[in-house]
Amino acid sequence: MIQAPKGTYDVLPQDMERRRALANHAERILGAAGYRRIETPVFESTELFARGVGEATDIVQKEMYSFDDGGGRSLTLRPEGTAPVCRAYIEHGMHKLPPPVKLWYLSSFFRAENPQKGRYRQFWQVGAEAIGSDSPETDAEVIVLLAELLEAMGVKGTRLRLASLGQPETRGAYREELTAYLRAHEDQLSAEVRARIDLNPMRAFDASDPGTQAVMAEAPRLLDRLDPDDAVHFAEVRELLDVAGIPYELDSTLVRGLDYYTRTLFEFTSDALGAQSGVGGGGRYDRLIQQLGGQPTAGIGWAAGLERILLAAPEQPVATDVVDLLVTVADRESRPAHLAAFEIAREARRAGLAAQLELTGRSLKSALKHADRIEARYVAIVNDGEQASLKDMSSGEQHELATGAVIAAILRGSRM
Ligand code: AMP
Repeated sequence: MIQAPKGTYDVLPQDMERRRALANHAERILGAAGYRRIETPVFESTELFARGVGEATDIVQKEMYSFDDGGGRSLTLRPEGTAPVCRAYIEHGMHKLPPPVKLWYLSSFFRAENPQKGRYRQFWQVGAEAIGSDSPETDAEVIVLLAELLEAMGVKGTRLRLASLGQPETRGAYREELTAYLRAHEDQLSAEVRARIDLNPMRAFDASDPGTQAVMAEAPRLLDRLDPDDAVHFAEVRELLDVAGIPYELDSTLVRGLDYYTRTLFEFTSDALGAQSGVGGGGRYDRLIQQLGGQPTAGIGWAAGLERILLAAPEQPVATDVVDLLVTVADRESRPAHLAAFEIAREARRAGLAAQLELTGRSLKSALKHADRIEARYVAIVNDGEQASLKDMSSGEQHELATGAVIAAILRGSRM
């Protein structure tokens, strides 16, 4: 048996209802705030992600599905949505539109990660990007929109972690300061942290051993090293979130696996999830558009994982699809009956009814059983080209009528 590749899964018809609910909530919540939907190609030039996401990131180093297109060009299945949206923004001259340009997407993405619950190799993200505004209101608004979407989906136990990364230069200087601090306290650190001081000094904040934790309690924090402009911007974002009544935890150690962030950075987690607790997050990327060849343009956005949202939200009772009418024939040998049945089903759909034709050659008895199973409201049993019986499945009543009168009778019935 050939199976779906590791880390991928089939979206079956019964799974569609909740995904549709997410799309509808996103359309409503983001649409009302002026966001318009965009869909970019499934694959892009590898260079877009190398430049846009960052050469040194795990995504670019280890997780991309890249391939040669046969003509010597390297293409990559999109691992994230921000770089492609910014590419499209530049390519289509969207800087000429009144700013900010607000876009949202619901698309599939690909990362060669180790699959586990909530982590897949093909997964879906709903995302939003606001390009062309550096006001703190934009930061607070995108966070509020994600909070509203998670609430509308019924995601349980959410927490918001918030930080500001300042500028890359600030980060560079801070990293040196932190590295020097760790070196000065090396004898109190765990061997693991010690070994990674130069590689990733920030990891020391996550260490669980008491020695390292004691050192880190006194360690310099990036939030205390922000430039005055960045500090004011961040204070204003927080003030707006306070006014909106959105609780958050300041987290100076928040890191996300993409290089392009500046200033505001945020992540929603859910206690309802296991190890992969991140539901969605994002941040400001004021240098990304320029890095991709556009004019210097501020931007901010987020992405949330569809699978994680569904895992952290309660199952809702799914409405079964309505079937107004099942059309079958009384005599399987009668060609005129088949032709009339085919026409009734087709015209019923044109009249707005959900109508199915019996397609398997079942006996009348098992067609009626099937109608019960799919909860059809009516069954039309066509006797010949002229006559049919219409059975109301809820009352069991049945009456004879001309084939041409079946649809009108159902429409009359449904109005009662
Ligand atoms: P990121 O683009 O890495 O910031 O991820 C944003 C969100 O997408 C995360 O919070 C997750 O909800 C979701 N996500 C990221 N990677 C995966 C994956 N491999 N499988 C499922 N969801 C993912």
